[in-house]
Amino acid sequence: MGKVITLFKLLPKLHQMLLCGLVFVTLIIILIPSDDVQASKQTPSASGEYDVNTRYSVPLAFRTPTAPAASLSETDPELRKRPAQLAPASSKTAEQAQQEIKPEPTVAAQKLNEKRFQVKSGDTLAALFERAGLSAKDVYDVTQLPKAKKNLLKIMPGDNLVIAKSEDGKLVQLRYHLDKITTLIVDNDSSGYTEHIVTKKVEARSKFASATIENNFWNAGVNAGLTPNQIMQLATIFGWDIDFALDLRKGDQFAMIFEEEYADGEFLKNGNILAAEFTNQGDRYTAVRYKDGNYYSEEGRSMRKAFLRSPVDFKYVSSSFNPRRLHPVTGQVRAHRGVDYVAAVGTPIKAAGNGRVIKSSYNQYNGNYVFIKHNDTYTTKYLHLTKRKVKTGQSVKQGQIIGTLGSTGRVTGPHLHYEFIVNGVHRNPRTIKLPKSEPIASKEKAQFAKLSETMMAELEHNKQVQIAAQ
Ligand SMILES: [Zn+2]
Repeated sequence: MGKVITLFKLLPKLHQMLLCGLVFVTLIIILIPSDDVQASKQTPSASGEYDVNTRYSVPLAFRTPTAPAASLSETDPELRKRPAQLAPASSKTAEQAQQEIKPEPTVAAQKLNEKRFQVKSGDTLAALFERAGLSAKDVYDVTQLPKAKKNLLKIMPGDNLVIAKSEDGKLVQLRYHLDKITTLIVDNDSSGYTEHIVTKKVEARSKFASATIENNFWNAGVNAGLTPNQIMQLATIFGWDIDFALDLRKGDQFAMIFEEEYADGEFLKNGNILAAEFTNQGDRYTAVRYKDGNYYSEEGRSMRKAFLRSPVDFKYVSSSFNPRRLHPVTGQVRAHRGVDYVAAVGTPIKAAGNGRVIKSSYNQYNGNYVFIKHNDTYTTKYLHLTKRKVKTGQSVKQGQIIGTLGSTGRVTGPHLHYEFIVNGVHRNPRTIKLPKSEPIASKEKAQFAKLSETMMAELEHNKQVQIAAQ
């Protein structure tokens, strides 16, 4: 410590002030709790019980997906958290392995003057070359090469070119990253200009993550080291079985194996979720990704079903299915024949399943409303929309945005009133048994069964390892 202070005193005044400022800012950042902490504190968790009829500011649900992104960048390996739960599961090489792997050529024989130039807005290759002290002849020579011509004439602001010159100022090598794994290299030696493309070796490693939900799914995912994108992926995979707006409870658990891609050992991006398990209120759901890109339960039934459990990307939820409820406007007991999803005005509302719009209209009670007939058995209804995005008679696909949440009609506040009708009878969309989904094609059955067994065993093994480590 004494040495540090002595060193500090040796610094010029300006540097001393800058250092003090830096230390001060760092302390502030450490001492001020993040938004996440604040949000968690507001969540009711003392008793652990959630009354589904009460409105919570932050429920067992998503918060705005962008908030934690800063600390969990998909691309920046330095910024990614590496908590203990995130253990490597195994390692294998991705399909996108190298096509043309050559080690970066070393031009080290002669002493080179290498410099990185960033493309500015309005820059041309010629302007950049001029800044680099190169001539119009160099621009001409380089762009005679087909790959260089194709890529270097459309450089974008922010792109980087590395230019190496010999001691006498001659262009020796130029390197330009086409993307994170491929680099265009132009060499110039006694035999003239040559070009080639170097592709880094991409390797996929599988990782394990798991969590128990304490107060909300989003926080549990973030704490398990998942990115916002992965949390959404997980919710999408299980979105046909679980209503992530209303059905999650304290104690629910998930575990998953996912891929991470590395280029020459450097973290590149997250890959797919390979296998996952979600336990919701004691019911266990499983999903395994097959080579067709689809997810199937461990028994080989498609995760995709005729109806989504929830038609809305929500922020918070006010009331649940309840056949006897005081209507908030009239005060009379009125059968509340649907589920109310309270969320921000403008939240997109999705068609729960494929079907035909049998009514897209407005009246003073329903406000803007859309009815969808899925087949002779099922009809769904969506009320109080701000905007309708479909017309009567139109066909819709599952997940298609049919309108946005609002407060039109007889309501006390913005919400989606969602009804699920089976053979003319109102049913609770959250609990009704829906038609079983399609099994995997019979010719794929054996191969899938083998994969499923391996993946679920790996998932189970990782869970055991984690329990043992606690
Ligand atoms: Zn309602």
